[in-house]
Amino acid sequence: MALKKLSELYFSQSALAIFNKCRRRFRYRYLDRLYWPAEWGMDDQIKEDLEKGRLFHLLAERYYSNNLGTALLKENQVLQAWLNRLKKFCPVDESIISGEQELRYHNNDIKFLAKYDLLKYNDNTKGFIIYDWKTDKKSLFNKDLKKSMQSRFYLYLFVKAGSKYFGDEYNAEKMPSLIYWNPRFPAEEIKIKYSRSNFEKDREFFNDLINEIKREKEFPLTDNLNICRYCEYRPVCRGKRQEGQELFDEDLDLNLDWESVEEMEF
Ligand code: SF4
Repeated sequence: MALKKLSELYFSQSALAIFNKCRRRFRYRYLDRLYWPAEWGMDDQIKEDLEKGRLFHLLAERYYSNNLGTALLKENQVLQAWLNRLKKFCPVDESIISGEQELRYHNNDIKFLAKYDLLKYNDNTKGFIIYDWKTDKKSLFNKDLKKSMQSRFYLYLFVKAGSKYFGDEYNAEKMPSLIYWNPRFPAEEIKIKYSRSNFEKDREFFNDLINEIKREKEFPLTDNLNICRYCEYRPVCRGKRQEGQELFDEDLDLNLDWESVEEMEF
């Protein structure tokens, strides 16, 4: 049963990160579908921040598709300020390809899926740039973004699938870059340049990881009780209340329509 469900699953960076943290959590969330909205049981302040993050992503998407309107900004000075910072940081110009671009990759029994906040193409350097917006209160400099699952997965998948999506229109030979930015800290920016050798390492890493997931039968509980403290399944596994919420990118994107993503078979 688990194997059948696994073969149907599109792996996102969140799913892979969760598997690495706790295999049982992966099973509950992606195979057993014991999933509930991230807001449930959440502190009001965190809920508010989460909503702000969602609205910012929506605003950014509309800004880059020239469909901004005013409804979302009404009486929301924080969002207005964040949007102004975004306009200054990364204004609309001819290099924009699309906001909230979803990519699927399906080859034999490997299926990957990601959603990119913004894609640009630099005609001078002939390279794609992926942007990812963070909206939490932690400085980007205090996160280990360079080695994160998200960075590796986003860049790897883009090289695997991006040229098939955009190769007709753009010269996709150069390796892409990934830029993280947070409107709370407008002067901070983390840029990660991808290389062929990193791509080769990531290919091995993701192939091994997917094979490991496919071989897994028991999906055991993690031994690290600290991970459990922030897990929504703590009452089920440990008989204790969750102490805080650990959010994954897909929690910010509950409106993502996974079925509408154009699938490319390679
Ligand atoms: S409570 Fe702990 S063991 Fe259970 S799913 Fe969560 S992280 Fe895994």
